[in-house]
Amino acid sequence: MKADHTLSAADPTFADVLAARSFLAEHLPPTPMWSYPALDAATGAHVFVKHENVQPVGAFKVRGGLTLLAGLSPAERARGLVTYSTGNHAQSIAYACAAFDASCTVVMPAEANPAKVRAVRAFGAEVLLHGANMAGAQARAEAYAAAEGRLLVSPGDTAALVAGVGTAYLEILTAEPDLDAVVVPVGSGTGAAGAVLVAAELAPGCRVIAVQSTAAPAAHDSWRAGACVTRANTTVVDGLATGRGFELPQRVLRSGLADFLLVSDADIARAQRLLATHAHTLAEGAGAAALAAVLAHPTEFAGGRIAVVCSGGNASSAEIAALGRDAG
Ligand SMILES: *Cc1c(COP(=O)(O)O)cnc(C)c1O
Repeated sequence: MKADHTLSAADPTFADVLAARSFLAEHLPPTPMWSYPALDAATGAHVFVKHENVQPVGAFKVRGGLTLLAGLSPAERARGLVTYSTGNHAQSIAYACAAFDASCTVVMPAEANPAKVRAVRAFGAEVLLHGANMAGAQARAEAYAAAEGRLLVSPGDTAALVAGVGTAYLEILTAEPDLDAVVVPVGSGTGAAGAVLVAAELAPGCRVIAVQSTAAPAAHDSWRAGACVTRANTTVVDGLATGRGFELPQRVLRSGLADFLLVSDADIARAQRLLATHAHTLAEGAGAAALAAVLAHPTEFAGGRIAVVCSGGNASSAEIAALGRDAG
């Protein structure tokens, strides 16, 4: 397949995030960001929860999907898109393709969260279930793009996705310019890359801190190594489930990420319960990972003004059932 110039464009800049915001203003209202005194008491910090779980696809990624589709030419949209995902990126691209009348195919791993598969199909996309993990789904998506002449969208190495999701950090740092840190859950790293671009311009004193699960540390290890690596990916938290670093977001993270923390899947489950009991919020595991980092690394955050991104609310029925166990 020919190179996709639009999709392999130059690295995203702050100006691209600003452009994405003016476009997104007609499509998505800003999401709320609230503090909860009980949550502050439980964390020992002043925590601001950025509620990306209330986006129309239940996750921040829709900012990137709509920005990507808006930047394609009519001819590119007419080719149709194909991408691969464990779930929320799939919903985002499906939603955006529906908004722009483009055909969408998503390859999801065979064991993908059924609620997310259902949601993607409900947005009108074709879903192919293939592979034991993201690598298997990616290989199928690449073959499909080549055979069908569709545009292949990488969930990580796509500049428009970073620019679009960066608008969440414009909202956060405009509302609270004197934060000590913003904590961002990471899978491919587009969200954290967007945060780095925006913080560098609007709030250089605000540390951008990334979080992954110890059971899927590829982005963390890539950042520490200074080069993309592959790692075992055994986390149950599907929004964070990736087995490799992605070049584009890693380049941006190297330019300005302050720290990269790891939390266990058990830390994440605890934070998920705390969001439910102390912040009226149903988060999926990935959406609770930032709060999990604040709880698991108290010395890094004690007394600080900290934004945690509740990146998504698409909890599986197993996650919802688990919220009721071990409560207290
Ligand atoms: C995709 C996703 C993440 C990780 O974002 P990346 O931009 O891939 O690093 C975190 N949380 C949720 C809910 C997600 O859907």
